[in-house]
Amino acid sequence: MLSDKAMQISPSPTLSIDAKAKKLKSEGKNIVGFGAGEPDFDTPVHIKEAAVEAINQGFTKYTPASGIPELKKAICARLLKDSGTVYQPQQIVISNGAKHSLDNVFSALLNKGDEVLIPAPYWVSYPELVKLNEGVPVIVETLEEHNWKLKAAQIKKALTTRTKALVLNSPSNPTGQIYNREELEEIASVALENNIFIISDEIYEKLIYDRNKHVSISTLGDEIQKLTIIVNGVSKSYAMTGWRIGYTASDPEIATAMAGIQSHNTSNPNSIAQKAAYAALSGPQDCVEEMRQTFEKRRNFMLEHILAMPYLSCATPQGAFYLFINIEETFPLKFRGIAVENSDRFAELLLEHYMIALVPGRGFGAPKYIRLSYAASMDTIQTGLGRLEAFLKELK
Ligand code: PMP
Ligand code: GLU
Repeated sequence: MLSDKAMQISPSPTLSIDAKAKKLKSEGKNIVGFGAGEPDFDTPVHIKEAAVEAINQGFTKYTPASGIPELKKAICARLLKDSGTVYQPQQIVISNGAKHSLDNVFSALLNKGDEVLIPAPYWVSYPELVKLNEGVPVIVETLEEHNWKLKAAQIKKALTTRTKALVLNSPSNPTGQIYNREELEEIASVALENNIFIISDEIYEKLIYDRNKHVSISTLGDEIQKLTIIVNGVSKSYAMTGWRIGYTASDPEIATAMAGIQSHNTSNPNSIAQKAAYAALSGPQDCVEEMRQTFEKRRNFMLEHILAMPYLSCATPQGAFYLFINIEETFPLKFRGIAVENSDRFAELLLEHYMIALVPGRGFGAPKYIRLSYAASMDTIQTGLGRLEAFLKELK
């Protein structure tokens, strides 16, 4: 018999939709993939070369479980250069992707029954990872009219004696919204007053548009830095999803605990991928800016077309590579006699009849929405938008 834990976990909807789309594509179906949160660019050449060199030099053995010193130093150097925060290498833990980093954080912080505040819409894995670590996810709804931002008063209302941490994700997957300094200051002061940890998932920090700036809550003073665990990785900024390198920057005590946990769970992250991540973080950064500019063009193009379509509405995302679209107006309508009713059905109908893969909002805690990823070529985007429009025209 399976454990209670296994029974209450639902598999990642983002990954399963992506797998389904990739399978249909491999069977020769002309699928437009708006599902995956995965840059479509190849990993930049200098990063791949660093990995080849690592293999050729025999850098193929175990490394220290929490990662190689040179990569930790490169992460500290980036944190200092990009946001001005000082971290020492012993505060860094390198893991098998940011998802694994998050698992380490929850494992190191949570006792059974501890509550973690998660603003909705949220990235699909946060509540499940909290549950896997015996915590209780407490969902706090944010509103589209507030640009999907959590207010300090909402945190205060959700606090209990068991509240241990708050998850912040800026820029956000799925909404693309980012928190500015003033908003973060309000959140930081509630966290400090109530001694709750901030798990700050900054994996999309480099993908920011309209000249906005990323602000990490950790930069707002020594006290809040101590309570913050930064989660980041190379997957999104450097088009390195398959390499599986993520990392945390935290108080040394938390880092030591996570390193100990990881030493039993997985040992070190892949030695070759660590060398590649080192090349990514310490090498030239123009590739990041080039990809960012391309994402911005795609966002502008896609948003303009989506807003011109019937039934759909969408707040302008400031970062990441997703449009989070309200489709509620389609629910009373029918497609070839089938009631649309909800976003799961909307996604099913589009996949089956128009060969578009997208993620319905339920997994993000927002069932009236769908998420479209614009980490896809302009050709793919144009084809997909044409199909989406044709589908909407069929609704009666
Ligand atoms: N956080 C967010 C918000 C994400 O969208 C993702 C997507 N993969 C991750 C963490 C995990 O990234 P990684 O590929 O490094 O595990
Ligand atoms: N984070 C990406 C997404 O939201 C990749 C899939 C996953 O890890 O969930 O689509």
